Amino acid sequence: TKISIAIDGPASAGKSTVAKILAKDLGYIYLDTGAMYRAITYAALKSNCDLASEEAIAKLLPTTTISFKQTEQGQLVFINDEDVTEAIRKPDVTNAVSQVAAQAAVRTDLVRRQQAFGEEGGIVMDGRDIGTAVLPNAEVKIFLVASVIERAERRYKENIENGIETDFETLKKEIEDRDFKDTTRKISPLVQAEDALKIDTTGMGIAEVVTAIKDQVTL
Ligand code: C5P
Repeated sequence: TKISIAIDGPASAGKSTVAKILAKDLGYIYLDTGAMYRAITYAALKSNCDLASEEAIAKLLPTTTISFKQTEQGQLVFINDEDVTEAIRKPDVTNAVSQVAAQAAVRTDLVRRQQAFGEEGGIVMDGRDIGTAVLPNAEVKIFLVASVIERAERRYKENIENGIETDFETLKKEIEDRDFKDTTRKISPLVQAEDALKIDTTGMGIAEVVTAIKDQVTL
């Protein structure tokens, strides 16, 4: 049987890293729901939408088709025919995404799209509301956390590896700001599902976290 695995948690807790490995090992689909919120935000910024206007952003939704393509270099993200894989990770999108993700029209639409991906199981989905709203019946629910210092350090190192020099304190503040917005929004705020297993990955290696999650999977 093919089950569904929901992985939620705050920004930069390592959700996508472990979700990708897990999906590959199990032969499952990986769905990066954060990339979908980022894609809508990118589309809104590109069309000079007022990000505070729910109406303006709602109008963009029907024409913003988001798709994923698996390649040897990893998963690519497209809006219609445009490759936005790199653009959606830029600071302008990162700093605006939580405002867009708080809007009712955006969430209703994207949650529906995410549920369509997950219909048949055999999926690992990561985000903020997967265990609580998108896949409330997921067989395995994980809530990944790590100290903010460790999360900022991981981001910092990742940036250095990609040739980007960032100020550590700024990174830390950006993570804290996004967590604040995500945990305090009205609709599906970031919260641990009652039946989720919490894993604090502070000081843990990636392989160790993957093993801890696999221990929850009984196929
Ligand atoms: O996971 P990632 O950091 O790429 O997510 C970007 C943003 O998208 C989050 O900070 C949050 O505002 C939003 N998001 C969400 N629900 C999800 C996934 C992401 O609201 N399921």
